[in-house]
Amino acid sequence: MRHVDPAVMIDLVEQKVRKSERERCQQHLTDCEGCTAEHESWWTFLSGLAPSNLTDAPTELLNECIAIYQKPEQQLSGFQKACVLFDSFLQPLAVTGLRGTMTEARQVVVGTDAFDVHLKVSGKESNQTIMAQLLPKGYIDVADAEIQLRVPGHAALLTRSNEFGQFTLKAVPSGPFFFLITLPPSGNMVQFSV
Ligand SMILES: [Zn+2]
Repeated sequence: MRHVDPAVMIDLVEQKVRKSERERCQQHLTDCEGCTAEHESWWTFLSGLAPSNLTDAPTELLNECIAIYQKPEQQLSGFQKACVLFDSFLQPLAVTGLRGTMTEARQVVVGTDAFDVHLKVSGKESNQTIMAQLLPKGYIDVADAEIQLRVPGHAALLTRSNEFGQFTLKAVPSGPFFFLITLPPSGNMVQFSV
């Protein structure tokens, strides 16, 4: 007596067997306890695989699960700290006090986590020129950074740094100066006033 092949057994459960074959198998199953048991186990197993009506988990539970996998905010995103490291107006170098070496330009160095900003402010009160350079700390691209200078009571001045991180702003009214520097592509922003 030929037992029912497991592959045929599966087809049998899924009703994919031709009529003549099915009749032969069903006849065998009535005579063979082993195949009957196997057929029943396949039936149980395959019916368990049938698609069931899935229901969504409660919203609260889903939100809790999402919260578990949310990454903490990256340190380098958003605003970064900036502090004035040097300002010739506030901390005049000894040599600048010497006759003949006094320069009219104001030198400012601002330090941030990602880069230093060297500023040189020259010219008359109402028509100043600011020449500056962003000096990266480590491997950070300071080219094509968006520079925004706001002086209270005046329209914002906009420019971009060149490939060396340098930029120049002309016709700058007298300060205080509020700088907002945005680095592409990270979008990191640094804000400081001098
Ligand atoms: Zn059998």
